[in-house]
Parts: sequence; structure tokens; C-alpha cells
Amino acid sequence: MTKLVSIRGAVTAANTKESIESATRRLIERIYFKNALSDENIVNITVSSTADITAFYPVRAIREAGHDVPLFSCVEPSIKGSLCGCIRVMVTAYSDVPTKNVYLNGARVLRSDIAGAYAIALDGPSGAGKSTVAKLVAKTLGVTYLDTGALYRALGLKALENNIEPTDEVNIRKLLTPANVKVVLDNGTQRVIVDGDDVTGRIRTQEVAMAASKASALPFVREKLLDTQRDFAKKNSVIVDGRDIGTVVLPTAEFKFFLTASAEVRAKRRYDELMAKGEKVDYNTVLNDVNARDLNDSTRAIAPLKKAFDAIEIDSSDMTADEVAARIVATVKEDL
Ligand code: C5P
Repeated sequence: MTKLVSIRGAVTAANTKESIESATRRLIERIYFKNALSDENIVNITVSSTADITAFYPVRAIREAGHDVPLFSCVEPSIKGSLCGCIRVMVTAYSDVPTKNVYLNGARVLRSDIAGAYAIALDGPSGAGKSTVAKLVAKTLGVTYLDTGALYRALGLKALENNIEPTDEVNIRKLLTPANVKVVLDNGTQRVIVDGDDVTGRIRTQEVAMAASKASALPFVREKLLDTQRDFAKKNSVIVDGRDIGTVVLPTAEFKFFLTASAEVRAKRRYDELMAKGEKVDYNTVLNDVNARDLNDSTRAIAPLKKAFDAIEIDSSDMTADEVAARIVATVKEDL
């Protein structure tokens, strides 16, 4: 439903024409992107800057960037102890998505509620390289990595071990009711525990992945695992990888990326990974599994694999994991 909303934003800048211009434009760009806006939706934009911003009018930067919208600018009172070199905006617009405020370049400190932890959502199809990339990003930025696929895999494993078809709703429900799926950190490494049983070492097979993919289409399974994922993300700055993190689990994540690669490239990566682990697999079987999982994941009725409108898409077909991680780290650092 389209509503009239106010979106807040702030950015810091040095007192030069170039810095004010680029900081203001980036802020407006991010606000538009994260709130699915264009000039047609804007009622007006009010800009207030701290008294030390004198080299250029921020509103002029917006106008000269081609935004033909009503603009108003003012100077904030000079309060002792407040952030210097800061440009704040209030965007009034018609919108039909949840509003997201945007604080860039150190301005997050203005909001004690969001200044601490932040979340990076990393979604994409199987084999796109999410977990490798997520681990690299987590290490570089010092955030915690949550691999949500491991939760679904743990359930898939339990189904296989109990001879239950992963699509058998009645019996999966019975299995899940007592099953207490928990994620714990052991020296920074994620471990998945089901009913006290540490299943971490047993979930990385093709068979378990396929069972996970099937069980994950059951609505009550997703519902049950939602809180586990959200609780984890609440406690720390996190990078969370999965299929529906940016769309369902953490729709207000500060950063969202959608990682893709062609099915052939993804199958080749999975094949190499499994062979390296000593599993005897055939490339065409892996490719068929990748395609089958893609179909399961993107056509299920609930929380299908889908790029969030405000996610940045990265095609990793011709990129190394280091290159993808560097791109994500650079984007995150640009805003913090
Ligand atoms: O990412 P990974 O291959 O470990 O995931 C195993 C399966 O779990 C996926 O094929 C997908 O069906 C399911 N899954 C999901 N939602 C997530 C993470 C994984 O449905 N957030």
C-alpha cells in the first residue's frame, strides 16, 4: 500500500565542494535505492547541515545531480559536542516498501539504536560461493558468520537418519517438534546442535543438501527456524548467508548482496569441493542436483530464492572468492 513516509539520512563530509557534493549525492542515491524511490515519488527533501559546512550548498549538489524535486536547506544550531561536518536530510515521499533510514560515513553514531551492530545479508543459489565469501568477509570486517543452510541441512540429516521423506509433512513436523536446532559459536566457528547432538561434521553431503532443499519448502520448517536466525543476528554484527535473508529473515539488513554464477560454474565448484573431500561424484550428477535445487528453492511457495529489491547483485562466474569478498568489504566500508 502506498503511504506518505519520512525517511531520515545523514552523512559526514569534509568542508570542500567536492566532498560535500559527493557525500550528499551518495546519501540521496542510497536513500532512493534502499527505499525503491525515484523523483516521481518525492514530495520534498529538506537538508540541514552543521554550521561548519560552508564550501558548497548540499541542496545544490542534489539539484545539479538532476533531481527535479522541491528542496529546502537550513543550518543546524551549533551545539557543543555534536557531530561536525554533518549533512542531514529528511525525505518526504510516497512509498510502498518499509522505510529505511540511511546513515553513511560515520554518521551512524547519530543513532544509538543502530550504531552498534549491523547485518550483511548474502543470498543466492547453491554453489554461488556464498559460504567461502562470507567467511572471508567475516574475517576482514571482524563480524560473525551465520550459515543458515546448515540449519536446514541439520534437519535434512535428521530426516535421512530417521528414514523420513523430507517432503513428508506429518513426520517432519513430529521430528521438528522436539528437535531443538541450535547454533553455537566455538572459537568463532559455527556448530549446529540438534537435540544435543553436534551434527556439524555430517551435513556437508549432496544427499543431505537435497533433503534440506526439500524440507526447507515446508512452511512450518521455515517458521520454526526464523527465530533461531533472527536471535543470532540480534546479538552480533553478522554476515548471514542463505536464500531469503534479505527478503524475509532480515529485511532491514543494512547491506544486502545477491550472489549468482552460471549453473555450470556452480556445479564445477561443488564438484571440485566434493572431490577434494574424497566424495566420489560425477559432474553431471552434481549439475543435475544444482538445477534441481535451484528449481526447488526458487519455485517454493514460501520465501522463494529471490533477489531483494535493495540487494546489490554480483555475478561471480568470472570472479575469485577474494574478488567478491573485496567488493563486499569495500561497499560496506564505504557506508560505515
Ligand atoms: O546453502 P546450503 O547449500 O547449505 O543450503 C542447503 C539447502 O537449504 C538449500 O538448497 C535451500 O533449499 C535450503 N536453505 C533455505 N534457506 C536458507 C538457507 C538454505 O531454504 N536461508
